[in-house]
Amino acid sequence: MTLDPVALLVDLVRVPSPSGDEGAAAALLRERLAEHGVEAHVDGRNLWAAVGPADGPSILLCSHLDTVPVGDGWTRPPLEAVREGDRIYGRGSNDAKGCVAAMSAALVRLARAGTRARVVLAAVCEEETGGQAGLPALLPALGRLDAAVIGEPTGLVPVCAQKGLLSLDATARGRQAHAARPEEGTNAIAVAARAIAALDAFELEARSEALGPPTAQVTMVRAGERRNVIPGSCWFAIDVRTTPEWDTPELVQAIGRVLGPEVLLKVQGAGARAQATPREHPIIRAAEAATGHQATGSPTVSDWARLDDVPAVKLGCGESPRSHTPDEYVTAGELERGADVYARLVEAWLERRGT
Ligand SMILES: [Zn+2]
Repeated sequence: MTLDPVALLVDLVRVPSPSGDEGAAAALLRERLAEHGVEAHVDGRNLWAAVGPADGPSILLCSHLDTVPVGDGWTRPPLEAVREGDRIYGRGSNDAKGCVAAMSAALVRLARAGTRARVVLAAVCEEETGGQAGLPALLPALGRLDAAVIGEPTGLVPVCAQKGLLSLDATARGRQAHAARPEEGTNAIAVAARAIAALDAFELEARSEALGPPTAQVTMVRAGERRNVIPGSCWFAIDVRTTPEWDTPELVQAIGRVLGPEVLLKVQGAGARAQATPREHPIIRAAEAATGHQATGSPTVSDWARLDDVPAVKLGCGESPRSHTPDEYVTAGELERGADVYARLVEAWLERRGT
């Protein structure tokens, strides 16, 4: 009996699983896999299962069970998996329960066909919030991994490189004074405005063929306490999307030079590491063969950022612009094709790595 990815997706959408509340979705997935002869393990709010020979070349199929909150603006019920034509609507349908359903269907298919690979499925929690209870907590249980597929909606186009995230705190320094005597102070808002305009006009060097240049955007500004006081400092946040070829100190230095000496720059957090896999690696070649598409770069962060030292490709059914929006949907055709692609990818990977 094959596992129908469409029926599984419908079931998964009907079990709400915002980040932090993925337990019921993990339990449902374990039940569905058991009905199809695959024993899965629930570990915290994560699920994992392995099929194929324990000593075989090991490949991870990983996606996430958690979703962003339902939010406003829906014209269909967000948790009922309403079907209209080929579309199935619901929060998480596209990001990323569709990938979970397609990977699960591929796992069952590979188990039945008797694959030579050790295929590991991981459906994790807390991807949307970057929490520690998700993939980082589950990794030790998964054993050795020779390659990985990260399931995110990429329109089934393989992604060989993914940007990272670096958050910076910038403080423009001035001197506080009475607004009636501006000559006695230095307006920190004016200092910040000049620095922000300079950063806006600046372009970092593109060192990555797949990803282009890192980008730096000012996303928040705070300053001023009273209408009649010239502010002595002005804080702003900078969101930097990184590429693997730039390291953090180098980026901070380049951005600091543009902002000028009156702006103090501090790393607030390295939110996610940029990742890349060489195009000639068997996992990328296999993904290209299975999909018929050339691999490309992606500006958005995923759990790939938390998977070091495992060659990986990001690939999944659905389209990224539908994620986190009202009336999010995935199509039945995308789910079926996704299951085919994941199963073919595993076999193509085995061939290309020459085992
Ligand atoms: Zn996602």
